[in-house]
Amino acid sequence: MKDLYGVLGDPIAHSISPEMHNDAFRDNKMNAHYHAFQVSSERLADAVKGMNALGVRGFNVTIPHKTAIMPYLDRIDPLAKVIGAVNTVKLEDGLFVGYNTDGRGFVNGLKESLSAPLSSLNCLIIGAGGAARAIYYTLVEQGIGSITVCNRTVEKAEKLTEDHPDAEERRVIRLDEAEKGLQQYDLVINTTSIGMKPDTEAMPIALDKLKASAFVSDIIYNPLETTFLKTARQKGAAIQNGLPMFIHQGAQAFEIWTGIKPDTSRMKRIVLEKLGG
Ligand code: NAP
Repeated sequence: MKDLYGVLGDPIAHSISPEMHNDAFRDNKMNAHYHAFQVSSERLADAVKGMNALGVRGFNVTIPHKTAIMPYLDRIDPLAKVIGAVNTVKLEDGLFVGYNTDGRGFVNGLKESLSAPLSSLNCLIIGAGGAARAIYYTLVEQGIGSITVCNRTVEKAEKLTEDHPDAEERRVIRLDEAEKGLQQYDLVINTTSIGMKPDTEAMPIALDKLKASAFVSDIIYNPLETTFLKTARQKGAAIQNGLPMFIHQGAQAFEIWTGIKPDTSRMKRIVLEKLGG
């Protein structure tokens, strides 16, 4: 009998996670299957109970359930608690435990391309949603030099920084302030959904003041190069799309479930094939 894994989301038909994880199971000769489950918000509680009753070993959680699922889990890992969102659940002794692998996934992906140590960088995060929270807390945990958050809704950025237990220095600015002072940042990360298909021309902030030595990351991977990244590249900056984060958050989830580190270059190939990149 196969061990069952999956992902809960709404919509979910576009998800690339089943191909990526099923290939990793095959690669590791595991008798397991990963399935995408379309679950509406109204049925989320029933779905979690059903997953437990069926003995599902683990699952991912995606939009719009990452925060809503938390009350239905038996335990939440401390990092996921401070982030306020769960993207990975594991069955441990009959109990569902929630984790968040987005932040570590992002940082692991970033380290593949970044030559400078995190401690030497002034970082700007654009956005204050779930992904921004995961990335902010993980960058602080990993000793980033300094970190500023800008967001359309400034109060949400303030809440993000205030929620951090060790927040000493809270730097929150408006989007127009970020544009004006952009030359001071070495690492600029777009965590908003602006620029995602179908609205691919949109940019979260203007990049006129970006310095050529900056590293610019956009966590969107569809399209693989957003207008934001294209503009940054044209200004001489090094760029990274959302694919490394996606691969590494998946790899971390796979390791939490199975104890095995999957082959991330193989995962990348599968995802690129699926995205046609
Ligand atoms: P979320 O919690 O809904 O946050 C959305 C963010 O985008 C907020 O900061 C929001 O600002 C901002 N935003 C949305 N529309 C805007 C607009 N028209 N103008 C200005 N700001 C706008 O979403 P999330 O879960 O953090 O996800 C954000 C993006 O990251 C999505 O594109 C998602 O696909 C991507 N993502 C990628 C990965 C990966 O593995 N690569 C993982 C997770 C997420 P307000 O606060 O003002 O509303």
